[in-house]
Amino acid sequence: MAFIFSGDDVCQATIPTPIPTPYWVAFSSSSANLIGIALDESGLPIDKEWLGVLSGNQLNTSDRQFSNPIATVYSGHQFGVWAGQLGDGRAILLGDIADQELQLKGAGITRFSRMGDGRAVLRSSIREFLCSEAMHALGIPTTRALSIVGSDLPVRRESLETAAVCARLAPSFLRIGHFEHFASLDDVERLKEFADYLIQYHYPDSQNADVPYLSLFQEICSRNARLVAHWQAVGFCHGVLNSDNISVLGLTMDYGPFGFLNQFQIDHICNHSDQGGRYAYHRQPQIMHWNMACLASAMIPLLTDQSDETLSQDQLRSALEQFPVIYAQTWQSLFRKKLGFTTSHEGDIALIEKLLQAMHDSKVDFTNFFRSLGNLKIDETISQNPLRNEFIDRDSIDQWFGEYVERLKMESSPDLSRQQAMNQVNPKYILRNHLAQTAIENAQDKDFSEVTKLLKILSKPFEEQPEYESYSLAPPPNAQAVEVSCSS
Ligand code: AMP
Ligand code: MG
Repeated sequence: MAFIFSGDDVCQATIPTPIPTPYWVAFSSSSANLIGIALDESGLPIDKEWLGVLSGNQLNTSDRQFSNPIATVYSGHQFGVWAGQLGDGRAILLGDIADQELQLKGAGITRFSRMGDGRAVLRSSIREFLCSEAMHALGIPTTRALSIVGSDLPVRRESLETAAVCARLAPSFLRIGHFEHFASLDDVERLKEFADYLIQYHYPDSQNADVPYLSLFQEICSRNARLVAHWQAVGFCHGVLNSDNISVLGLTMDYGPFGFLNQFQIDHICNHSDQGGRYAYHRQPQIMHWNMACLASAMIPLLTDQSDETLSQDQLRSALEQFPVIYAQTWQSLFRKKLGFTTSHEGDIALIEKLLQAMHDSKVDFTNFFRSLGNLKIDETISQNPLRNEFIDRDSIDQWFGEYVERLKMESSPDLSRQQAMNQVNPKYILRNHLAQTAIENAQDKDFSEVTKLLKILSKPFEEQPEYESYSLAPPPNAQAVEVSCSS
């Protein structure tokens, strides 16, 4: 059940603004299944009224009425600086459907749009749609994407583009920025309403804790710590880890200038607008921790209410200190699996770090290296191992492979079963920017087939799909530098 904010200064009934002549650009049957939309053989809703609803042009299908769409406001820290009230996420919540909130992104101006036009362009909508579904298939917590509806309505960004509406699903789209909004208003009453809602509907176990709000904080921290560890393990860079883009449910959300690593560069910056590299790959864990500190500050008024202030701040501080611990445990466990280890041994972490350093030095493709590592045969000689050719310093990587094989021998590690297990955690197919870019360029010429094809390939990222082998390759040299920015 969606949270109903009290007060029209934070939540307002908002009817989406229609778009002219809407057409389907993309549709996720997997998301549709989640909310029980019946589909025809072409994978589109049987009930044609859904096109109207998901474009924001009408509020009812043949058997469903979205009677109270709303827009809500949030605040947040952007690039490390308190930015005050930010907006609405360009989002209008249509309503609840089967435990999910159905939200339209880009469906027009709301009371909280400030200077924005409330629209999203086709380009950014395709990126968000594909990545949401790709992350889900990778097993990483994320908001989902149901559809993109396009229109020829012109939208001005750096150049003139066209509008699209992306329909998203999540158990909740609430963000750290919502906590911060109420805290910045010194509105303890509504801060409480908000936290109580989260406990009741999303963190019921916290109800029974000694200090429920503290437990709520611990749980939100813990989910986000695990989330960022998963990002690191698949080489996902979010791009804009502002507190308004951080979910209170630990979901990846607001896909903008994200990027998956091609060559492993520990300090890779995926967002062209992030000149200082605040959100570089290696800084994501620390930045997520920083966002949890923002959450802690926003929650202080809740705790002071239950105990004296010194104690509450101490409680929050020690809960916050657990973040790096949970992050490290998750990261280590994920990387052990990436290397095919089923047990943990002293020295594993040093071995993993040594590998990552070598991959960084030689700019090795992150995804393809780990996928190919599963092909290694324990008894083959080092010179037979084709992966050594990816590295500049062969002597040192030969030595690493030697240590790796010794480590594998410390547990029963038959080649075939190890490979099978590694292929379940090391994807073959990820949404590389150059792939998204081709789909976007075709779509801008009204050919949406590449979006559909990518959705299909990325929905089975761990499976071999020989007919799509080329989609697993590192980008050709001229495509390495697709630039993505906050513009969307
Ligand atoms: P996201 O985090 O996905 O919501 O995207 C944030 C981007 O959307 C930023 O580049 C904002 O400048 C832009 N933006 C935020 N609010 C609006 C709005 N109401 N209309 C148009 N663009 C907006
Ligand atoms: Mg956002």
